[in-house]
Amino acid sequence: MRMQVPRVLSRTQRVALPGQTRNDAGGFAYPLEPRQQLERFLILGTEGGTYYVSEQRLTLENVKAVLELLYQEPAYVLERTATISEQGRAYKNDPALFVLALALASGRDAIRTLALEAMPRIVRTGTHLFTFVDYLTQLRGWGRAVRRAVAHWYQARDLRELAYQVTKYRQRYGWAHRDLLRLAHPKADTAERNALYRYILTREVSANLPAEVGAYLEAVERLNAPDLPLPEAARLIRDYALPREVVPTHLLTSAEVWNALLPAMPMTALIRNLATMTRVGLLTPDSEATHFVVAQLTDRARLRQARVHPLQVLAALVTYERGRGGRGSGVWEPVPAIVRALNGAFYATFENVAPTGKRLVLALDISGSMSWGNVGGIMGLTPRIASAALALVTLNAEQEAHVVGFSHQLMPLKLKPDMPLERAVKYLERLPFGATDCALPMLWALERGVAADAFVIYTDSETWYGEVHPVEALRMYREATGIPARLVVVGMLANPFSIADPNDAGMLDVVGFDPNTPSAIAEFVRGNL
Ligand code: CA
Repeated sequence: MRMQVPRVLSRTQRVALPGQTRNDAGGFAYPLEPRQQLERFLILGTEGGTYYVSEQRLTLENVKAVLELLYQEPAYVLERTATISEQGRAYKNDPALFVLALALASGRDAIRTLALEAMPRIVRTGTHLFTFVDYLTQLRGWGRAVRRAVAHWYQARDLRELAYQVTKYRQRYGWAHRDLLRLAHPKADTAERNALYRYILTREVSANLPAEVGAYLEAVERLNAPDLPLPEAARLIRDYALPREVVPTHLLTSAEVWNALLPAMPMTALIRNLATMTRVGLLTPDSEATHFVVAQLTDRARLRQARVHPLQVLAALVTYERGRGGRGSGVWEPVPAIVRALNGAFYATFENVAPTGKRLVLALDISGSMSWGNVGGIMGLTPRIASAALALVTLNAEQEAHVVGFSHQLMPLKLKPDMPLERAVKYLERLPFGATDCALPMLWALERGVAADAFVIYTDSETWYGEVHPVEALRMYREATGIPARLVVVGMLANPFSIADPNDAGMLDVVGFDPNTPSAIAEFVRGNL
C-alpha cells in the first residue's frame, strides 16, 4: 500500500521551523546545546573542516562555544574534558589539551585553579605535554602558574616512568624536555632525581641514578651508538623493553629488531605498526609473531584495558588491507589472519551493545558533503565511511534492521551483519553523491509501510533539499502509523547543528565515534534515556 504523503506547512527545508537556525548549507536545523557542542568538539575534533566550512572557521566556532561555556560553567567543562580524556573516548587527546590550554589562558583565577587541578588527568604523556605547551604558547605564553604546572608534571612522575617518557618522546613542535626543564625549573628533592634532570639536559648517565633507571638509559644510549651489531641491538631492546621511539631509523628495517620490540610493545603501537612489521617480513602467514599479534588483537580484555579506540582499529584495518601506504611508505602483502583479527577488534573496542529487539531503520547520509572532512582527524576517513562502520556495530547487535542511504533520493544499502569492514568501506565509496534531504528515511518508511520503532540517522545535519523538514516527517510518520517512533541523530562532524528537535523527548542527538555511541543508541531506542 502506498500512502499519500501530505503536503505540510513549511513546503521547503529552506524555511525555518520555530527554534531552528540556518545551517551552513542554507537549510535550517536546530542549534546544538553548548554542552553537546563541547562533547562533539572533544570527541570528533575539527581537522579537515567540513564541506561547507573551512577547518579554521570550524575550529574558531568551536573555540568560541567552548570559551563561552567555560566562563559560565568552568567546573563542568574541565570535569567533562578530563573524564572524556581519561576514558579514551576520543581518538585524539588534542581537543582536550586545547580546552585545558584555553582555561589556563582565560585570565580568570578561578578557572585557572580548576584547570591546574584537571591537568594531571589530561596531560599524561610526554607528547601530551609538548602539545599542551605548544597550544599554551600560541594562546598566551608562559606565566608563573604555567611554569609551576609544567614543573609539577616532572616532579609528580616516578623516575622509571619519567626516564621512559623523556626518552620515548624527546621533542615535538620545536620543544624538547631540555627547554621545558630550563623554563619550569622543577625541584629535585633527591640526588637521584637531580641526576635524571641532568640526563635530560646533557644525556650523561650518572652513577647517582637508581640502578634500574641508569641501566635503562645506558641501554638507550648504547643503542644509538654507530656500528652496533644487529644481534646486540635486538638483545638491548629485548632485555630493557625499549620502545620503538628510541630505536635509530636505520635499524627499523630489520625483522629481528621488530621481533625484539614486539613483546613489550604497547597495544596501540602494535596496531599502528602492523603494516611495517609485515613489510619487513616479521608478520607472515603462520609465523610465530603473527600468532602472537593475532592473540593480542583478539584479547578483548587487553584491548579494553589499553583503551584502544575504535577509530584506531578502523584506520589500521583500512590501510593494512590495502597493502600499500601513503607517500611512498612501501607495499606489503596483508596477512588474512590479521585482517580478520582487526575486524573482530573493531567491535570489541565499543561498549557492549545488547540487542533492543526493536524495529530499526538505520539511515546513512550519503550526500556529497559526507565525503568531506576527516573523522577524528584521520586522513581519508570520511564521515561516509565512518558512519557505515558505526552502523555495522548496531546492525551486528540487532541482526535485523533496514539499512538505507539517502541524499536527494533514497536507496537500500547492501550492508549485512558480519560483512568485513573493508568490504563495506569499498562498497560505500562507490555510491553516487547527491544533495541532502534528511527527511527521506521517514518519508520512505511512510510510503512503503515500513514499521519502525526508531530511525537512526548518521549525518552532518546539513539538510536543505527537500520540501518537508525531518522533524515534520517524523511527526507525520508517528501520526499515520500510530507508532511513537523515536529518532536518533548521530553527528559525524563537530559542526553546531542537529536535525533533532531538543524539545521532543523522542529525539536524541549523539556524537558519532565515541566508543559509547552504539550503547547510547540502544538505550534510547529501548526508551531508557
Ligand atoms: Ca550534505
